Amino acid sequence: MRTHFKKVLLTVSILLLGNQMFAQEYDLLINDGHVIDAKNGIDQVMDVAIHEGKIAKVDARIAERSAKKVINAKGLYVVPGLLDIHTHNFHGTVPFGYLNNSFSALPPDGFTFRSGVTTVADAGSSGWRDFRKFKEQVIDRSKTRVLAFLNIVGLGMKGGAIEQDLADMDPKLTAMIAKQYPDMIVGVKLAHYSGFDWTPTERAVEAGKLAGIPVMIDFGGSDPELSIETLFMEKLRPGDIFTHAYAHVKGRTPIVDGNGKVRDFVFASQKRGINFDVGHGGGSFLFEQAIPAVEQGLKPNSISTDLHTGSMNGGMKTQINVMSKFLNMNMPLKEVIAKSTWEPAKIIQREDLGHLSEEAVADVAILNLKKGDFGFIDVRRKKMNGDKKLECELTLREGQVVWDLNGLASEPWNEK
Ligand SMILES: [Zn+2]
Repeated sequence: MRTHFKKVLLTVSILLLGNQMFAQEYDLLINDGHVIDAKNGIDQVMDVAIHEGKIAKVDARIAERSAKKVINAKGLYVVPGLLDIHTHNFHGTVPFGYLNNSFSALPPDGFTFRSGVTTVADAGSSGWRDFRKFKEQVIDRSKTRVLAFLNIVGLGMKGGAIEQDLADMDPKLTAMIAKQYPDMIVGVKLAHYSGFDWTPTERAVEAGKLAGIPVMIDFGGSDPELSIETLFMEKLRPGDIFTHAYAHVKGRTPIVDGNGKVRDFVFASQKRGINFDVGHGGGSFLFEQAIPAVEQGLKPNSISTDLHTGSMNGGMKTQINVMSKFLNMNMPLKEVIAKSTWEPAKIIQREDLGHLSEEAVADVAILNLKKGDFGFIDVRRKKMNGDKKLECELTLREGQVVWDLNGLASEPWNEK
């Protein structure tokens, strides 16, 4: 009898111990994927555990039974949710509004998750006068994390004469609104100004100084031209952003000269701390510029789309399509990922994003690197062939599946 009692006790304790050992401490486990996390210097096959919307653990081996759900990512890349720091998402129905509360801007969720993007920074579609409308209409209603560069023009990016109005470029009021929403406003934007005049640049930089945030500049368009060397070496501060880096447009000196050489001061500017952003868009990315520039070492600091109706169906397409272009220009995958995650996070001073550290938000993208014959198009419809292309298999936003191309996270339909 005593022996029997001992046996029962032993069985009970083993069961209890077992329960403890096999308790499902994680909500989700992504195993066997190749993790690329630039901040933490990870570039190898690792398991990633997620709990309550945060990264709980990244380790060489995490037991499957420790998680309620397991996603097998063998043969795929597991990376931090991508950041696209040049988009236009202030969509609305006000006529003649261009990218400000109007038809040319796009709702973020329809374009982000399918491309692995979990954070966008709208590049100046709103200004200090209507940021709150943008917030209520888009930021608060989107699953995508929407951040914003505030336009130095109070009325925002309405196009035409409104963006030429010096009287509506107020550094003090711009900085005031930026400081009121520090978790959403990450920079100041100047775009489309066409006068031979440094005042708009100086006002944008002044607003950036007052609010302690970087300035992003879409430069050029004046006749005669303003010097981009002066812009890079004197007007902008280290940490400011020059977008549309690989454009060749009227009114702005291209970074690659007529002989296919990157101008010397451009290298010096990047060294000085000016960030070169892709901002592909519908008119701002040419292979004629990008291929020699990357070959000679003038690589972008951040890869971004300049998403709007004029770019979504052209050569730009999506964030990962733009990333794939750089892959086929022989930039290593690790670098392409860094310039779409940790590097842009640092540029917009959001070091909480763009990495998979423990306790970081579980924004994650699972990417497939396909091999084959592919073609890529620039804004003049010139083509570059390539043999690599990224595709987004699955996206997590705060630990929730928000995109799953092939049902990686799903059970077979005929299994209970
Ligand atoms: Zn833009």
